[in-house]
Formats: sequence, C-alpha cells, structure tokens
Amino acid sequence: MDPIYHASRRGWVGRVQRVVTVLEAWLAQRSVRAIEVQRSTVAELDRLFHTQLAAAPWPPQPWGDFVQAAGRQLDARVGDYGALLLALVPDRDRGTGSLVEALAEILFVPRSHRTEYVHNRAGAPPWDIRRLLLEYAVWSLRVDEVLGGLTKGFCARGCDRLPTGCCSVLGYDMGMVPEAMLELQQLEASGQGWQVPATEDKCKYHGRDGCCLRLFKSPACAGMLCDGLVQELGRRYSAEPLQAFLRPLARYRNQVLDRSAIFDVMALVVATGRRLLG
Ligand code: SF4
Ligand code: SF4
Repeated sequence: MDPIYHASRRGWVGRVQRVVTVLEAWLAQRSVRAIEVQRSTVAELDRLFHTQLAAAPWPPQPWGDFVQAAGRQLDARVGDYGALLLALVPDRDRGTGSLVEALAEILFVPRSHRTEYVHNRAGAPPWDIRRLLLEYAVWSLRVDEVLGGLTKGFCARGCDRLPTGCCSVLGYDMGMVPEAMLELQQLEASGQGWQVPATEDKCKYHGRDGCCLRLFKSPACAGMLCDGLVQELGRRYSAEPLQAFLRPLARYRNQVLDRSAIFDVMALVVATGRRLLG
C-alpha cells in the first residue's frame, strides 16, 4: 500500500465531505421540501468530481468561495476535463456554480421536487439535455460499479472473444443516444488520454484496459451481456435474484436516452445488482 496515495486520498475525501456539508446547508437555506440526504452519495460526488478535476485541490473554504475557486480552476486548466465540465453546465451565464447546483439537486433532491420536473408533469421529453446527461453520468457510475463486480472478472479472463470481447464492432450507439452524448463521450475519453485510433478494426473507445468510458457509456454497451456471461452468472447466483437483475438490465440496454424514465430502470439495475453482490 502506498502511504502517500492514502494520505492524499484521505485529504480529498475530507474535502468532498466538507463540500457535501456545505451543500446540505445550502439546500436547507433554499427550503427544499423532503430533502433526502443519502450519505452513500458522497462516494458518487467524490468520484465524479475527482474524475473530472483530476488532482486539482479543492479549497477548504465556504460555499461561495468554493464555487468561485472551482471556476478559477477550470479557467486555468482549459483542458479536456474543463471542456467536459463546461459542456455539462446547464446555465452558461452562471458558469460552474450552475453545474455544482445541478449536481447537488440530482444527488440530494428527490426528482418529484426538482424544478424542471415540477413544471413538466406531462412527462414530455427532456427539458434540459445537459441536466439529463449529468444525471445519466451519476447513475452510470453506480451501474458501472455493480456491473464491474458482477461481470468484469469473467469478461477479462473467461471471454472467448479476447482481446476485444464484444467491442469488436464500432460501438452500439446507433440512434439510441442524443448527439450531445456522443460529444461528451469524446470529451470523457480525451480526458483519459484517448486519441482517435489509426485503425477501425474495433470500437474506437476500446483501449488496452478495455472501454475508456464510464460516465457516458451508452445503455446498449453497458447492458450488453453475451450468452456465455449469462450462463456464468447462472452458475454463481440463484435463478430468482439473477432474473430480477437481468430483466431491468435488458430494459436498460434497449432504452432510448431521451427522458427521465431511464433513471428508474437504472435504479432498478443498481438495486437488484447490489442485492446479488450482497
Ligand atoms: S460480454 Fe461476453 S463477449 Fe462481451 S466481453 Fe464479456 S464475456 Fe466477452
Ligand atoms: S463504447 Fe466501450 S463498451 Fe461500447 S463498444 Fe466501445 S469500447 Fe466497447
């Protein structure tokens, strides 16, 4: 174990926890009803921000200063991470503060209480594509964690199609995700050091360590389980809880990402997957 790594990890986890405390106070000030603060969301917030802003230190300052400092960091960085974050800012005039607010709402406020849903009871297509995709990123991290625990061992060692596995095709996105998500995929991949590959013999996002997307992997990709993998899961888990997981996963895989219904399906995948993992 690397003590320097652990010390720095403790440092930024502490900073994220302070941010969450400030978020709670900020939301309370806004008198949002029935806020359900879940401590487990700290991990998602932690990973999302850490992934996007890499090793940039979060300032241990009050909320307003924090938002301004985050903005300054982005201005200073103007790299791939900055571009990805700026692409997700719902209100460009308000800069990164708008992104942090939107993320706070996603993490802490039930959907039925959020402004954009309260004003769109008809259930029409998305109101704000950036908010939709930001929420997708949050749920993707949770789905990825579950799928990682259930499938990645077999995909890495038991797959009969290695080294590319089922990523030998040129992606599974065709018509299933909004254009904006395809752009975000490219920004996310670039933030991982990805470059357009010279050949087209497999999906362009498949690298030495597998897929380089976590936040904006399309439903068709994330939910792809070949027959061999399903049989392997059948050997490890009993039929009823496994089917309870596979059913919503199949729905998720075929879901068009154009409305919030997809998050209900992703939540079911996460809940049933976590149950399998124990
Ligand atoms: S889902 Fe199946 S084909 Fe795809 S990588 Fe995993 S084991 Fe291989
Ligand atoms: S986006 Fe990722 S999971 Fe989907 S085909 Fe490409 S490498 Fe595979």
